[in-house]
Amino acid sequence: MRLLEWVFEIGAFSYALALGTLAAACVAMGAPTIIQLMSVTAAIGYGAGISARNAGRLPIAIGQLMLSITPTCVVLMFLPGFASKVLAVSLGLFVVVMISIGLNVFRTLRSSITAADTSARLADQMREQARTDVVTGLLNRAGLNHELVELQMQLPADQKLALFWLDLDRFKEINDTLGHSVGDGVLAEVARRIIDTAPAGAVIARFGGDEFIAACIVTDRAECEQLASAIIGDISRPYRIDGHRVSGGTSMGVAMLPDDGPDIDAVMQGADLALYHAKVQGRNQLRFFDQSMTRDLVRKKEIESELRAAIQKDELSIFFQPIVDLKSGKIRTFEALVRWFHPEKGELRPDEFIPVAEETGVIITLGNWITSQAAKAAAQWPKDVTVAVNLSPLQIRAPGAALGILSAIREAGLEPERLELEVTESLFLEDSEQTGRFMEELSAHGVRFALDDFGTGYSSLAYINQFPFKKIKVDRSFVSGPNIGRKSDAIIRAVAEMGSTLEMDIVAEGLETVEQVEAVRKAGCTLGQGYYFSRAVPDFLAAMLLSQERDDGAARTSGSRLAG
Ligand code: C2E
Ligand code: CA
Ligand code: CA
Repeated sequence: MRLLEWVFEIGAFSYALALGTLAAACVAMGAPTIIQLMSVTAAIGYGAGISARNAGRLPIAIGQLMLSITPTCVVLMFLPGFASKVLAVSLGLFVVVMISIGLNVFRTLRSSITAADTSARLADQMREQARTDVVTGLLNRAGLNHELVELQMQLPADQKLALFWLDLDRFKEINDTLGHSVGDGVLAEVARRIIDTAPAGAVIARFGGDEFIAACIVTDRAECEQLASAIIGDISRPYRIDGHRVSGGTSMGVAMLPDDGPDIDAVMQGADLALYHAKVQGRNQLRFFDQSMTRDLVRKKEIESELRAAIQKDELSIFFQPIVDLKSGKIRTFEALVRWFHPEKGELRPDEFIPVAEETGVIITLGNWITSQAAKAAAQWPKDVTVAVNLSPLQIRAPGAALGILSAIREAGLEPERLELEVTESLFLEDSEQTGRFMEELSAHGVRFALDDFGTGYSSLAYINQFPFKKIKVDRSFVSGPNIGRKSDAIIRAVAEMGSTLEMDIVAEGLETVEQVEAVRKAGCTLGQGYYFSRAVPDFLAAMLLSQERDDGAARTSGSRLAG
């Protein structure tokens, strides 16, 4: 570059000098007038024109101007006669004026170039700021999108782009209890740890509140897995912020380009879905995207988001199904069963949305609402009728679960003895110690427990012995399933016998025909529930069934039907 400039300068100067000396020589040697005139005009014209054109490079402009005009000036000075002296002086003045014009042009050019430079620098700075997260100094969402595209363009054909999507566990808790400055401190520290662990050239961003994304190029899945565990391990170490010791942890979803999707958008979606699955599983979990996640998750997400709103919008209601004394035919209990009347999807069965509510944790809010609604309805019934509420394992594990239930019945004005909680065996498989404490605490207040769906799980008699159950509900597959026969009959008999020894009620579920009612009564079941007696009905109908029964006065015969 430098050499080229030299060549240009030498060329420019020599051409100006050649023109200048040619004109001077023509004048000095007294060439024909027309030749003198043309050569001088050419030299002056060239000098004036070229100095204006090169004003951006002042030394060249001045040099060319001088070299093309001053030789003629000097010759004129030495020629005899006054006129040539005047001509020489005015040419000299012309050079001076041209130099000053050149200087002005140069200054204007220089200031507009600096202004353009500054504004370009400012624009760069602003672009940088718009792409940076202030708390952590990482990229923000906008910056991430830009950098991911760049990273994708650099991706060699035989390598993969791994995308790690992190969501800190319990960050909200930290923010709420220790304040925002500690929260910000944790975020900044998390950012530092990700930077330390991720390979050089990784794109790292904070994405909304407590979510981070890291993306980098890896050779294979093994490297991706290794990186994911390294990042999780690093983030899970405790933090020390402003003198507080904060324990950390994160959930992570991972997806790779091109394995999990054809472009950045698809891979982002994949990592997001994987993260969602990781969070559902509990804290500090890592999940890789797999294709099966897509379909069922969309539906679940739909139900999840709508379910939260459904409670507020009054789309849910509690129906009540009677549980009947098989000897007297009187209603002893109503089981509360939740119903969702969706404005577009129609009536949704609990089997469809309760599992989603359990997976997503909505069951805690929903369960509390169900218990308090059921208790309010039951408080209006005669004192000898109880209400049964189904409890999900997650509800029991939530902090303050027992207190929540006690306050719901207190608010409703229902005696604890009139509330029955139906739980399934699955509860004991996971944490029987916590379950035990929960049951003991409520039993001490008088609340009763029923073991639901008996016969479908492990059917372990150990639980019946170990926990304070007042009731066992034999699953309807023993009563009306395709495999009923001598064997199921024998099982019902054995359970019923044990029930009578331990002074527990045995409920047969799913009774649909009079034959089934007779069979389970003979086998020793004390209570029955099923369409034969009544389907689940709204609260006002439940109250009506009760008042009808009381109006009838005398006990009805067993097996009498209550409602269609
Ligand atoms: P579950 O606790 O075993 O409830 C009995 C289910 O059997 C109810 O279905 C009821 O409508 C149905 N059923 C009653 N009698 C008959 C019959 O004669 N024949 C047949 N084929 N079915 C009968 P539902 O209401 O669809 O509830 C299904 C399950 O959803 C319940 O099974 C329970 O596990 C869960 N569930 C319902 N409501 C709640 C709730 O409020 N909280 C929780 N955690 N779970 C609930
Ligand atoms: Ca039940
Ligand atoms: Ca059941």
